[in-house]
Amino acid sequence: MNVHDSERLSGLLEGAGYVRASAEDDADIVVFNTCAVRENADNRLYGNLGRLAPVKAARPGMQIAVGGCLAQKDRDTIVKRAPWVDVVFGTHNIGHLPTLLERARVQDEAQVEILESLETFPSTLPTRRESAYAAWVAISVGCNNTCTFCIVPALRGKEKDRRPGDILAEVEALVDEGVIEVTLLGQNVNAYGSDIGDREAFSKLLRACGRVEGLERVRFTSPHPRDFTDDVIAAMAETPNVMHQLHMPLQSGSDAVLKAMRRSYRQDRYLGIIEKVRAAMPDAAISTDIIVGFPGETEEDFEQTLHTVREARFAQAFTFQYSKRPGTPAAEMDGQIPKEVVQARYERLVALQEEISWEENKGQVGRTLEVLVAEGEGRKDERTHRLSGRAPDNRLVHFDPTARGRDGLPAGDPGGRVRPGDIVTVEITYAAPHHLLAEGPAHAVRRTPAGDAWERRTSAPKPQGVLLGLPSVGAPAPSPSPASACGPCMD
Ligand code: SF4
Repeated sequence: MNVHDSERLSGLLEGAGYVRASAEDDADIVVFNTCAVRENADNRLYGNLGRLAPVKAARPGMQIAVGGCLAQKDRDTIVKRAPWVDVVFGTHNIGHLPTLLERARVQDEAQVEILESLETFPSTLPTRRESAYAAWVAISVGCNNTCTFCIVPALRGKEKDRRPGDILAEVEALVDEGVIEVTLLGQNVNAYGSDIGDREAFSKLLRACGRVEGLERVRFTSPHPRDFTDDVIAAMAETPNVMHQLHMPLQSGSDAVLKAMRRSYRQDRYLGIIEKVRAAMPDAAISTDIIVGFPGETEEDFEQTLHTVREARFAQAFTFQYSKRPGTPAAEMDGQIPKEVVQARYERLVALQEEISWEENKGQVGRTLEVLVAEGEGRKDERTHRLSGRAPDNRLVHFDPTARGRDGLPAGDPGGRVRPGDIVTVEITYAAPHHLLAEGPAHAVRRTPAGDAWERRTSAPKPQGVLLGLPSVGAPAPSPSPASACGPCMD
């Protein structure tokens, strides 16, 4: 959600005449969009602000703004601790940033504006999309649950659903621009409909996305097991462009811990959903989030998590060691677990999941997959001369775009080079725990409107003007990919 909000902030500022800075040190304006879910968010923010203080002192007119969840939580503490900050804004008023910057400049004093509830649904604001081929589409914001480890409800407020017509209009507009993959986004995405009085609204939305011509891949993140209903499974299985991929946070396999977390499902309900998903879509890749060492977690509780992981056979799991988030009920609970116990359990869980991820990935060897070529997904691509992308089930695939067939030609390549946004068909020859490799030539390369959009964007001349900085310090991955970008997605 924060990554998508950053796209909104960039769009707003570009709409107001600012231009993206080529390097952080060139920026006239630096905006920090903070995430309070991340561990040590405040230390990292104040560390970064401290580093910028001398830069600002040496650069007259430079402005620094702090927004997002931590700003919503800390409010004017930020300007007390870092008086060189010009603007503090919250999660409910990101649309005010250009005005606040202007007011800070004219009045020559810091502007702190935090609203208690949402004014405008953020998706009605201008956006500067990071990716030309894949896009986030927010369908709801906020959350009506009260998980005891989570700060989101306090900072993002109650769930607010966007009207289906507005969502589909945004999806269609994106497809017109060349986007071929969308990820529907909500803190509790499958609770969508509770605010507009339709319990099947989410499955209807998936089916409606299936009717958008030119849209090739639909994903969503993150669903809550409590709200995961059979109509959603049927919509996933029956809508060809909805990918057979599910990221569904488990958090714990122990019923007692789930109760203490105030997560209303239990282990059998969670595994029951997975069974139904696999029955309807045997090829589905399922991933999850797990917290280890929640207050009061016993060895038996942890064994239940290991048991659930063995049963569920996740393709990937994002595992976190519990650490207190100030302002959450769990931070005040008795039975906080010593660090060394949490660490030992965490290592056991990671080792088990690595083994399962690897075994599951080995099952992909020999399969022929369509890979949507991505930008910036393969950290070693430059060195290995490979390209990377995502399979339909969101597995990361590296391939060699120059591999040649028996005829000596890169097979299937219709002449031009493969671009991010294009689709290549490759055979998987090797599996590692976190990626797949296709070492042979591509069977086919399909040039797509998304590849054309990427090419238009990269060949456009760079405008000049006031330089905007969205710091790269701690910035998440650029393109929507639930597996790579959501970080410690608490839900
Ligand atoms: S963990 Fe997810 S479901 Fe629970 S309160 Fe946070 S956002 Fe809501």
